[in-house]
Amino acid sequence: MRERRGILFHPEELDESWIERLEEAHIDTLGLHPVGGAAADRSLEEAVRRHLLPENVRLREALGRRGVAVEYEAHAMAWLLPRSLFDVKPEWFRMDETGARRADFNLCVSNQDALEYLAARAEQLARLLETGQERYFFWLDDGRDLRCHCPRCRELSAGDQQLLAVNAMLRGIRRYKSGASLAYLAYVDTITAPEKIAPARGVFLEYAPFDRDSHAPLFDPKSEKNAAQARSIGALLEFFGREGSQVLEYWMDNSRFSGWKKPPKELILDEDVMRGDVRAYREMGFENITSFGCYLGADYRALWGEPPVRRYGEILREGGREHAHP
Ligand SMILES: [Zn+2]
Repeated sequence: MRERRGILFHPEELDESWIERLEEAHIDTLGLHPVGGAAADRSLEEAVRRHLLPENVRLREALGRRGVAVEYEAHAMAWLLPRSLFDVKPEWFRMDETGARRADFNLCVSNQDALEYLAARAEQLARLLETGQERYFFWLDDGRDLRCHCPRCRELSAGDQQLLAVNAMLRGIRRYKSGASLAYLAYVDTITAPEKIAPARGVFLEYAPFDRDSHAPLFDPKSEKNAAQARSIGALLEFFGREGSQVLEYWMDNSRFSGWKKPPKELILDEDVMRGDVRAYREMGFENITSFGCYLGADYRALWGEPPVRRYGEILREGGREHAHP
């Protein structure tokens, strides 16, 4: 079993300097994360364009030689199911609570044609973003209360609805790569385990406690926010299993700490919180641990100097099994 240590940042923040920085920090997985939000489809399209540029091919190859796997982690639904289809296929889109179909978020997961289209598009995206890896992270739209309320979907939780979409996407991706796996992102209102839908083989848990307080340990019972985020972890691990399980944390997420607005603020890594969290995650049996690390690109370094990536990597290793049993 491989125990990954990873960091995610925006594709446009990747430059030559990261090759040495990641190697020195013993980080072996880089997740390229196109900006989410309302323009997620455009930023993913831009990532696809960038992916093919010779300088980016060269950068990925250089990272590969240092043992760093490159993957993409993106809110992909608006790209996979373009909103422009609404005019011809309104029934593919979600129904809001008033009974109106809307081309705002996600889809109607009870519509088999929509799921088949989604599978074909996910296959296409996997082909476009070939990285030599077999793990995929095509997330649904970013936000809260984005599920379908049609009569057939109504009884399904956000997690169950997401899992139906994930199963369909993986079916498509496996036409391209038979050994592919795909993340179920436990995040915001999908942070509770699904109940009615079973995961297809190859679906793994990615746990991202977005609503946590980053300045208190996740398992600190005095933090109500964190207790609410941590409550479902046991059930999630039980439901999806520990194989391939991954934490996606915010310890290094300078876009979060900067309020998602440039210029970036100075990132102070809360080492004590992170150390305790890493230990707890390892004890629970998570295989891989990653964190967002956006807003640490060239503009950050011009303002604040070297970001604490090496320290981040050290703390990840302190909590790792390979460190405990050399
Ligand atoms: Zn529906």
